[in-house]
Amino acid sequence: TRTTAEWQQTDSAHYLHPFTDSAALARKGARIITRADDIYIWDSEGQKILDAMSGLWCVNVGYGRQELIEAATRQLQTLPFYNSFFNTATPPAIELAELLAEITPPQFQHVFFGGSGSESNDTVVRLVRRYWDLQGQPERKVIISRKNAYHGSTMAGASLGGMSEMHQQGGLPIPDIVHIEQPFWFALGRDERSERLSREEFGRRAASWLEDKIQEIGPGRVAAFIGEPVQGAGGVIVPPSTYWPEIQRICDRHGILLVSDEVITGFGRTGQWFGCETMGTKPDLMTFAKGVTSGYIPLGGVMVGERVAKALANGGEFAHGYTYSGHPVACAVAVANIRLIQREGLVERVREDTGPYLAQRYAELAGHSLVGEAQTCGLMGALQLVRDKTSGAPFPAELAVGMMCRAHCFREGLIMRAVGDRMIIAPPLSMTRAQMDEMLALIRRCLDLTLAELQQ
Ligand code: PLP
Repeated sequence: TRTTAEWQQTDSAHYLHPFTDSAALARKGARIITRADDIYIWDSEGQKILDAMSGLWCVNVGYGRQELIEAATRQLQTLPFYNSFFNTATPPAIELAELLAEITPPQFQHVFFGGSGSESNDTVVRLVRRYWDLQGQPERKVIISRKNAYHGSTMAGASLGGMSEMHQQGGLPIPDIVHIEQPFWFALGRDERSERLSREEFGRRAASWLEDKIQEIGPGRVAAFIGEPVQGAGGVIVPPSTYWPEIQRICDRHGILLVSDEVITGFGRTGQWFGCETMGTKPDLMTFAKGVTSGYIPLGGVMVGERVAKALANGGEFAHGYTYSGHPVACAVAVANIRLIQREGLVERVREDTGPYLAQRYAELAGHSLVGEAQTCGLMGALQLVRDKTSGAPFPAELAVGMMCRAHCFREGLIMRAVGDRMIIAPPLSMTRAQMDEMLALIRRCLDLTLAELQQ
């Protein structure tokens, strides 16, 4: 094997990392992650790190699960690949489709598989347009999404997403995708503070921006609204409780399809199997990836609700699909993963035990002098770091306080992600209370170290 320095050198010579400034990375060298177990990862220097991000929001059952490894091995030996294009199908894909129909809300009896979250959201764009064509309303093309949303990196995924750098770099969005503001009370509700909007009032206000946009475009041209139940990559932004029910009413009023991007919020993350159940919506389409296999192998897909499924059933061929749609090894791992979540009662554990416990402990962290807002939803959490606790005034961007805090975490053996000055976590759902205490102690310590550095 190679030394850390050798890995780093070869890495920067050949490997372009996603969302990374290669020159900056080359100067400091990548951290080489070599193995993992339970909720921990280890680097090539032997340091143990508590992974409070579940990899990239995906390792819901934790690392090193034999059931998943065995399911993959068995399937690789029996049938490593076959497609579902030639009027063919494989047992694991059929079994997974059946299982998904069972664990998702009742309107979902059908699934279209892909390889990732981005592909799944691309499929949504095509499905939505196909649906309205089949309804004889081809002029319904516009999909409304939200600023600061993340829906993936393909052309359609990045267009649906509302990240301005991604739009600038790709000449995006593609036509007929538009964005409204996000339901981010701390950033926006406070701006509208002259009116002193409560969170609940702000939630209704943020939903009304959808109605305004529909009126601006013309209801007869709007095809769908897409949103993450809780915006993840945007900074774990938990919307006010009034937001989603109002969004649902607006979509119903105009007959617009509601799409829930459950790539992060699916498979127990929010304390229900899917985030739409926590938020109280009834989506027509629902995308998933990540937690479906706990990230052990790539898989994604779209749950297709009865309204769209009925139209498709009578519509002839839907000219769309991927080589890896319903990949048998990925599907076998997904089946094993879902059965494991069921057997260990991980969704209930998040709902009844670890989720409420995290909420309680984050409410305590809200008292820390760096923290302007602490939010949780199930096992997702956000800490907004601020210069002035009372006014909520931010630090100057040049200070890069979020990155400063993240660097302390890295040194102390904790993976916490920084979105600007918002520190976010999404730990494995398999986490015990004792492990949660260990994580929370590390978080507090890193906040203290950040504060001390700022006071130097
Ligand atoms: N949708 C959401 C909400 C996501 O968070 C992500 C990835 O983080 C995606 C879509 C894209 O998924 P993938 O990276 O698997 O393409």
